[in-house]
Parts: sequence; C-alpha cells; structure tokens
Amino acid sequence: MRPHLIFPALAFFAAVTLPVHAQTIFPINRADIVAGAHFDFKVEFAGVVDPKLVSVEINGEDYVKTLGKAAELISREDGKDVSSLLLRNVSIGRPGQYTITATDGTHTRSATWNVYATPKKRIAKNVILFIGDGFSIGHRTAARILSKGIEDGKYKGKLAMDDMPYMALLTTEGTDSIITDSANAAHAYTTGHKSCVNALGVYCSRAANTLEHPKVDTLTALAKRKGMAVGAVTNSEIEDATPAAMVAHTRRRSDYNDIVKMFYDSKIDVMMGGGSPNFLPKSTPGSKRSDDVDFIELFKLANYSLATSKTEMQAAANDASTTKLLGLYNTGNVDGALDLKFLKKGSVAKFPDQPDIVEEMQAALKVLSRNKEGFVLLVESARIDKYSHSMDPERAIYDTIMLDNAVARAKEWAKENGSNTLILVTADHSHPVSVIGTVNDELAGNEMRNKVSIYEDAGYPNYPRPDTDGYPSKVDVSRRIRLVFGATPDYYDTFQPFMDGEFVPAIKNASGVMVANDKYKDLAGAVLREGNLPNKGARAANQGVHSGDDVILTAMGPGAEKVHGQMENTDLFRIIAEALSLGNPDRPESNITRSKMVKRSRQ
Ligand SMILES: [Zn+2]
Repeated sequence: MRPHLIFPALAFFAAVTLPVHAQTIFPINRADIVAGAHFDFKVEFAGVVDPKLVSVEINGEDYVKTLGKAAELISREDGKDVSSLLLRNVSIGRPGQYTITATDGTHTRSATWNVYATPKKRIAKNVILFIGDGFSIGHRTAARILSKGIEDGKYKGKLAMDDMPYMALLTTEGTDSIITDSANAAHAYTTGHKSCVNALGVYCSRAANTLEHPKVDTLTALAKRKGMAVGAVTNSEIEDATPAAMVAHTRRRSDYNDIVKMFYDSKIDVMMGGGSPNFLPKSTPGSKRSDDVDFIELFKLANYSLATSKTEMQAAANDASTTKLLGLYNTGNVDGALDLKFLKKGSVAKFPDQPDIVEEMQAALKVLSRNKEGFVLLVESARIDKYSHSMDPERAIYDTIMLDNAVARAKEWAKENGSNTLILVTADHSHPVSVIGTVNDELAGNEMRNKVSIYEDAGYPNYPRPDTDGYPSKVDVSRRIRLVFGATPDYYDTFQPFMDGEFVPAIKNASGVMVANDKYKDLAGAVLREGNLPNKGARAANQGVHSGDDVILTAMGPGAEKVHGQMENTDLFRIIAEALSLGNPDRPESNITRSKMVKRSRQ
C-alpha cells in the first residue's frame, strides 16, 4: 500500500534533518524581552560538543558583541553526555529583533527575540495587580448574583471589577502544556516570559538542580531598580506559587524554604499571607525548615515590622515609620471569607484575628505609598482556586466577592491619591465551573437531584440582601445557586453548602484507588458521582482541576487602554512595564567589550 511506502521514507528524512534533541536556546524563540531586563542565556546542545566547532551568533555576529561577556561552555552538564553554553545575568539595552543561531558543527538551531523599549515618560505612578487564583466566569457570575442581586433580568449593581473601561481575554497556556498551574501562570505576569508547569522566574531547561535553570527578571527586581516599593499580599501561604512569582527563580514551586530566602533577598517591602513554618529554624517546634536559619529574625534585623494578627498589622501600618512589613497570619493558608466572617470553620478558632485580603491590601497601601517613587502591589485572592479544587462552590464564591471588595477599595484609593494608579484585575487560569441553575428545596420529593432547577424553573435564588460588604449572611437558603464542576474525581454530590467545613471530595482507599469520600455518603439526598479524572496510580486526582479556558482581564488607570481583544498572558507584563517605563537600558552599549568564549569543564 502506497502510504506504507511513503511513511518510512519521510520518517527517515525527518530523523536526519530534525534531530529530536537538537540544541535548545533560552530565552526561547519569540520571547519578548523588555530592554535592559536581566536574563540568563543558555544553549543546550544535543551531545558533547567539540568547542572548536561550536559557534553562537546573534544577528550574524559573535554573541559576545550583543551580550557583553563570554559564556561558560560546560562540556558535560550534570555529568551527562551533553554540553551547554551558559551565560548568567545579561541584558540587551537596544530594542530590536535578535536572531540567535547556535551550531555544534552538525546541527544548527535558531531563535528570535523581540527586545522592546518602553516609553521614556512614565505614565503610571503605581500598579495594583489583582489575581483571583482560578477565578473563572462561573465564579464571577455567581458572585454578581449573590452580592448585587438581580431583578427583571438586570443586575441591581455592577461588580467593581466589571465597572472598568478596558477588558481583554487572556490566554493561559505554557511552553509545555495547554493547561497551566499557578506558578507558570503568575510567572507570565511577573516576568513577561512563557514557561512550564511548576516553574517560577525560570525557563524549564534540563538542569538537574531546580535552582539552576535559566532565570529571567521579575517585576519586583525591575521595579526595585527604579527605586519603587513592591508588595505581595495573599490569603494563601506566602511561599505559594502566585506571590512567590514576584520574587522566585526555581523550577519547582514547592521549594518553599528557598522561596523564603528569595523573598528576603528581593527586599520586597510588604509581604503578607500564611505559611509561617518555613520562616522558623528547624529547632523551633512546628518549623518546616531543613536548616537553622531564623528568617523571622533576619526580616526583623532588616527593618521589617512583623505582624501575626490583624490587630498587629493595622498598628504597624498606621505607624508612619513603617516602610517594611512582614505579615504571617496562619501556619497554613489564611481562612477564606465565608469561614472568617460567617461560619467560623477552617482554622478560625485557632487563628481568630486573621485579616482578609481587603484589610491586608489597605495596610499594604498605607506602607507602600510612603515611597514617593510609587509602588507595585500584587493582591491575590488565592482560595477561589483552592475551594474550586475542593469543589466547594459557596466558599469559592465568597472569596470572589472578597476579591471584588478589594478592587472596590483600590479604585477608591486610586481616585483619592492622584488617579495615577494602573489597576489590573484578572485570574491566572480557569476552573471548569459553570452556573447551571438553582437547587430548590421546596420542590416535592426526597431526591435532591430532582430539585435541581434549570431554565425557567431556576428562577432567582433567595439569598438574603447582602451586607455592606456584599456578602449575604446566609448561604444555606432554600433556593440556591447550582455551580457545577466539569472535571472531578468520584465524589458524593450533596447539593448543599458545606456548613461544617471545606468539602473533601475524594480520598485514597486501602488499595490506593481514589474514591468518593464516605463522610458525605449518608447526607440526605447525596448522590455518588463517578468521576472523569484518573483515579489510579501517581496521576490519580483527589480534587477538581484547572481548565485551559481563557481568563478575563479588566483594567483602568494610566496604560489600561492597551487592554483589549485577545492577548497572551505575557502581554500583561508588558502593559505594566510600559506604564512604569521599566525598560530603560541599565547597561550603556559603550561598556560592552568583546571577549573570547571561555571553555571550562564542569561535572
Ligand atoms: Zn490550582
């Protein structure tokens, strides 16, 4: 048969001309690099190379002319039969297209970078970037219904994040997958580069050590070089992926102890969240450190005020001499809005005086605005994601309302403080969640499934009028939102809010198979749902997962007009870089001296 004759011939041809392991160039092809930003340059060759045959050129000339110094040629990287060329911490000051061509004498690979300048005149003094982790359109709609109410088909008010003049759809994909995690996704916003799942501030190379991958500059480093203040506040552990993306350079987001050091080294001015155990020396009970470094003490010595409760945070922020603030309010994640304000579940009994992200942000604004050069502040509502993983709709919706309250306060602050703050509100990725109707307890019968009401039967839910912060005081009402999850493990669908604490949908049984959590089996009307995610082996899912759907970005303030249409997530970084004019070259071209490539062996 003819196709059988053609296919092997084509395969052979491809194997000769396109080796699977041809050299790889970092930064990668089509990278957008702000002029003057620092990055590590790396070329990974397919095998051990003969240094005499290696040639690396940028725009047809020896790379040293552009990058200013010679790289190290590692003949056997990590003891393996592969060579790499590595040059740390370089920058390109002159904007333009740069085509890198690397050859080992046999294979040649090229990549093109776009180095862009930013306007000479800075148009924004401050930037506040809101990230609702995992925040999807279903959450947004549900939050609007609960906090604004609806009548005659029209909402009775807008969310603060809806009431902004500019909007775009952002992609979330990474270099490795159509589905991102929060590390890679936040990295795109804080560096302007695409990377892979679990990576922060680095490209994903073949380096064995998670801290040795090619680094790229973070927003924190760039803003700090301009003399600005920088902050990150969240209700996750502060070492968690999204806040960590402000400062970290690691291939593995779970390198919490290293990430604490990176926060310290970054000199970030304000950082708040949970996750105190990774700051404590291992000799301290409850510590999660593997060394005896006392980071609480180090931060204090570096002039940070330490707050471990809302009361301490507000006192520190109100003290006019406070310019650096470390807030650690929980050993794990800070509790979400539904538990903090209404149900008092989660860890509220153990940590009764935790701030929510609105209060954290207000304290951060006081401290950061003491720097007259302006500030960059990341505000994360982290548990929208965590509660969507645990398939707990009400908790995710309340934390979306909390995010919107923070946006509302930020808009007021910006208006009262010169209207020169760029405000961006987005998510890092989506979850497969949708509002499909209501659950109506008043319908006849005992089967909860048959109380699910769709189309005209859904009607409007009957939550009480929300309080001044937009929260209804009761979630277990008789006609409530039905928010469903599209990708799940096996679980018991209870059709009810989880009044006694966050839902735990699935657990591993004695045979190692992920099964529905029996705890919910006997609740009236609970139905066993067979999941659609892997349930065996290392890839078994015990919770809901991220989706690859685009996310919404809304924006206002100077520079916001660039937010429109459909954009890459990395474009958000560029909008910030341009508004703050972060792209000024920091290395005059005349300083570049030409030198020869150095050969050195490293095992
Ligand atoms: Zn997640």
